[in-house]
Amino acid sequence: MIYRNLFPGGKSRALTLSYDDGVGQDVKLMGILREHGMKATFNLDSGKMGVGGVRDDGVEVRRMLPDEVKEAYLGFEVAVHGYTHPFLTLMPKDMMAREVAKDREELEKLTGYPVRGMAYPYGAYNEQVIEQLRAMGIAYARTANSTGGFSLPKDFLAWHPTCHHNAPDLMELCDRFLNKKNYNPHEVFYLWGHSYEFDADKNWDAIERFCDKMALHEDIWYATNIEIYDYIDASNRLISSCDGRILYNPSAIDVWVTKNGSLWAAGEKLCVPAGKVIDCGE
Ligand SMILES: [Zn+2]
Repeated sequence: MIYRNLFPGGKSRALTLSYDDGVGQDVKLMGILREHGMKATFNLDSGKMGVGGVRDDGVEVRRMLPDEVKEAYLGFEVAVHGYTHPFLTLMPKDMMAREVAKDREELEKLTGYPVRGMAYPYGAYNEQVIEQLRAMGIAYARTANSTGGFSLPKDFLAWHPTCHHNAPDLMELCDRFLNKKNYNPHEVFYLWGHSYEFDADKNWDAIERFCDKMALHEDIWYATNIEIYDYIDASNRLISSCDGRILYNPSAIDVWVTKNGSLWAAGEKLCVPAGKVIDCGE
């Protein structure tokens, strides 16, 4: 018996987005994402809320206010981006820990849920930062290193995105993702950026085009970053009997697998419900 991991609903792929700094343009971006049934994670610096102004190019970039956060980001994930958006790699360890913990605590007060994700300010990280975040219970942290690929990270504390929304080959990457014929488990298209860039670059049509192309595919799970992290965690905890007939899902999340599939054929899709033992037969 061979099982391969799938995403919720028996889907083989996922799509997620991650946008930084918590600026006013996030509202417009979320409107577009909602229209297309897409999910995203927004990384906020709670110590800089309300900060901003009009730039030389006439574009206003202002961070959201604390009392706007809960309602504006409803249905999306809010994650840590450093209390004051610092270079975490350039400060003493205790200060670095405070930047993360303080931001997390403030965002939890504003959102009303545990905030466990993060994106590195300036994309800057190193082994010492990763070690600190792991000790603090941060589940994942996004870098700014685009891979052009769709693999899950080896370490969720160095989660490299597929590409920035201004990548010249964005549409080619979308085609590559959509046209994949194999059943490699757990492939993720991960787009990142800053929503004010759409104003600065006058290219809101780029995200509209991306959404039009990537939305409403039956085989794609549209998820926030933490939803993907939690699902993979649950998937990794799946237990099977020696002969592979019996599967036990000890987590609180339904997990999907394909039975006796191959790289080229989906096989039979099975759901192992949260907390349940199932007999999968021969
Ligand atoms: Zn940033």
